[in-house]
Amino acid sequence: MTTAAEQRSLEWLKSADVRPTRQRLALAQLLVGDGENRHVCAESLHEAAQLGESSVSLATVYNTLRVFCDAGLMNEITVDGHKSYFDTRTDEHPHYYWENSSKVTDAPKDAVKFVSLPKAPDGTEVARIDVVIRLREK
Ligand SMILES: [Zn+2]
Repeated sequence: MTTAAEQRSLEWLKSADVRPTRQRLALAQLLVGDGENRHVCAESLHEAAQLGESSVSLATVYNTLRVFCDAGLMNEITVDGHKSYFDTRTDEHPHYYWENSSKVTDAPKDAVKFVSLPKAPDGTEVARIDVVIRLREK
């Protein structure tokens, strides 16, 4: 018997040709099982996995997130140059970083407009633009 969450996770992995190992499936269910997008860091995903039936090491969580990113299933958002968040929403969109709670959420996409960008150096093109808007309480 396969639940809807398992089915959704399996299809998510298959869509990017990622082999559905037991651990990958367990983590995929935490990420996309309910059909919602989410932003996680390795630590928060590891914690969520500990609460469930699946015991995976933090190293496995890191490796799995890396596999999902390399396969194009997720995007990595880096804050402060060392803190990584992983997003199941893969279209280009801006983010809020909440300094007080260290959370990342989506910012409204249409509200960001680029009036001018520097010309990409010869032989290059802009691959993507990452926008992180840092918030702090007033
Ligand atoms: Zn996002």
